[in-house]
Amino acid sequence: MTPSYLDIKSQFPVLTKAPAPGQPPLVYLDTAATAQKPKAVLDAMDQFYRESYGTVRRGVYRLSEKATAAYEGTRKKVAALLGAASEKEIIYTRGATDGLNLVAASYGGSQLKAGDEIILSQLEHHANIVPWQLVAEKTGAAIRVIPCDDRGVLDLEAYRALLTSGKVKIVAVGHVSNALGTINPIREMADLAHAAGAVIVVDGAQGISHMPVDVRALGADFYAFSSHKMFGPTGVGILYGRYELLEKMPPYQGGGDMIRQVTFEKTTYQNPPHRFEAGTPSIAEVVGLGAAVDWLQSVGLDKIQAHEHALLQYGTRLLSQIPGLTLIGTAPEKAGVLGFVLEGIHPHDIGTMLDMDGIAIRAGHHCAQPVMARFNVPATARASLGPYNTEADLDALAAGIRKIQGMFK
Ligand code: PMP
Repeated sequence: MTPSYLDIKSQFPVLTKAPAPGQPPLVYLDTAATAQKPKAVLDAMDQFYRESYGTVRRGVYRLSEKATAAYEGTRKKVAALLGAASEKEIIYTRGATDGLNLVAASYGGSQLKAGDEIILSQLEHHANIVPWQLVAEKTGAAIRVIPCDDRGVLDLEAYRALLTSGKVKIVAVGHVSNALGTINPIREMADLAHAAGAVIVVDGAQGISHMPVDVRALGADFYAFSSHKMFGPTGVGILYGRYELLEKMPPYQGGGDMIRQVTFEKTTYQNPPHRFEAGTPSIAEVVGLGAAVDWLQSVGLDKIQAHEHALLQYGTRLLSQIPGLTLIGTAPEKAGVLGFVLEGIHPHDIGTMLDMDGIAIRAGHHCAQPVMARFNVPATARASLGPYNTEADLDALAAGIRKIQGMFK
């Protein structure tokens, strides 16, 4: 392997074990949906459950103190990973969807009024569309959409023009498109949003584990993502928010842990981040996320980015040589997503047939129906990359596609 490649597949049990005797290990090309877990994360959760498990921030006994230290330790790790000003800016959520709903309901719900505007982009995942539609319906705000070109690049001139209305309060945009791989110019978009008096909410679900992310360098006011896409467990995610914005936001959900004092007459709330963390959280999952952050830091996000970029170029070359294959999403600034359609073969058939060869890809609309509509396709097949993938995985994909084409002749 050339120096830009990582060699870490052996750290992932599911990728190294034969699924059945005599079969080759799985070729996993669906990291944009969810990432596989390294042994370091599995071990950390196992050890936590065996040795340190207890409730957090409530118990007075030692086990609870130990659990709380591990749980709060992750907050510090995530703050450092993101370059946040303080760990108080890090809110535990259930995932990117939950974080985006939190911002839309709490920030949007309290700041928007009839006639205000929310800007989204054509490239958004449904998780960064529907929560805004819900709050727009409640407040009377209107949604405007930044279009993209035939490569999947956002039209920044159109964005600038949308911002001139003087009514825009929120811009909500993905860091990286899950369907096309486009990396959006967040810093530039944030500067434009701020100059127009708006805040920018970044859906970082596809950004965080594929490149170094510094929320302050990006100019993001909010940045949401899921642990499960960054090699951690399901059921937990992070919402980063600038503290001065979080401070003026009302609670999203009510319950235990988010209050200062409760009476039937009046209840007072904790400061952020705890104001937004009602109920017993996903404790072991938060610890697993902490281990995932350690793991990412130990590999190096710059190395992961270089590895995936080299693989993306390799895969793009391979797939471009296949007659009848059209890549959907060809932005110059692109992360490790290879979306494509094949002449005469439905994406679902491609996915099912590749699975018979032990190759896992995704087929469908990728929860991004407006993207599919823009490219005039009902669905695409999508191979997406992680740091554990290799050139051999992409060779297997290309061979699998050619084999399917042969069967359909
Ligand atoms: N945004 C993007 C860009 C995504 O790819 C996803 C997951 N496919 C989400 C948001 C939602 O993430 P989750 O389902 O983990 O909440």
